[in-house]
Amino acid sequence: MSRFAQARYLIEKAARVAVVGHLRPDADAVGSVTAMVSALRFLGKKADGFIGQAQPLPANLRSIPGAEEITVSAELPPVDLVIAVDCGSLDRTGGLADAVAAAPDCLVIDHHASNPGFGTVNIIDAEAESTTLILFRLFSTLGVELDATLAHSLYAGLVTDTGSFRWGTPRMHLVAAELMKTGIDTRRIAEELIDGNSVGDLQMIGSVLSGVTLMTVGSLGVAYLVADADTIYGHSASAVESLVDFVRVVDNAQLGVVFKETSRGRWAVSLRSSSMDVSRIATRLGGGGHVPAAGYTTSGRVDTIVQELVTVLEELSD
Ligand code: 5GP
Ligand code: MN
Repeated sequence: MSRFAQARYLIEKAARVAVVGHLRPDADAVGSVTAMVSALRFLGKKADGFIGQAQPLPANLRSIPGAEEITVSAELPPVDLVIAVDCGSLDRTGGLADAVAAAPDCLVIDHHASNPGFGTVNIIDAEAESTTLILFRLFSTLGVELDATLAHSLYAGLVTDTGSFRWGTPRMHLVAAELMKTGIDTRRIAEELIDGNSVGDLQMIGSVLSGVTLMTVGSLGVAYLVADADTIYGHSASAVESLVDFVRVVDNAQLGVVFKETSRGRWAVSLRSSSMDVSRIATRLGGGGHVPAAGYTTSGRVDTIVQELVTVLEELSD
């Protein structure tokens, strides 16, 4: 049986389904949750979406239809099936990891190369530009009707995970074209999700960018930004997440890094490169991700966490 057929079997025999996206979600995680929930409801299932964290979803992601309904929680109701979407590992389900592990069945749908396949059935396609692109294909095999609401959710993941269609295969444009045929307003979606900034957010971005540092580790150039808690506190998550785009391609650097202090002494670190495998670096530091984009979390003072990264870079270059 193909993996899509196995997924279909799991879905058909379930009456109650929980759909779980990764903690500190991005638009692909939220769009995958909302799309999957709405597809399951179309199929007559009782379905709800969950993210395993305490913080509410960032405002820009709440523009995705159905996002307001997602429960942020460390508990799941009794269900027959959990579908984990865009979660590269079980621990990415955050506070829900124990509940996901205890579910009668778990269907994993994801596009992270580092995914170990923690479900009963695993659809992991590391070539897929976004998890929503995998869902687009799954929905057609399940006979789910594509309307503008569903297309909006799928497009949200596709436009963001492809860097606004800057990287990916021809398929991303073909799928985008199918989604646009439903009449979705792609200009408005991009404004709500990506482009919107307040004056305060722009000032924060300017202040973080003014501290950009280029360091060399052996023969490797590393451009990094430090966004400490005092600087980013109260600013929109989308503005903070946009910082990494500035260090993705910097002259004389092969690696771009943003250290984001999400709470005092706790850091979410984003790694980007167009010439090296950053998922290897992130995995060594307890995280994961894709070849060109990966991340990890750590704690400590700025100089300690920068040194921690330098040590791993030195080890990997040996
Ligand atoms: P970002 O830098 O945009 O937060 O994440 C880039 C990629 O790395 C995403 O695909 C994301 O799933 C992955 N990633 C980011 N942070 C972590 C982490 O702490 N653990 C794991 N396993 N993956 C992460
Ligand atoms: Mn994704």
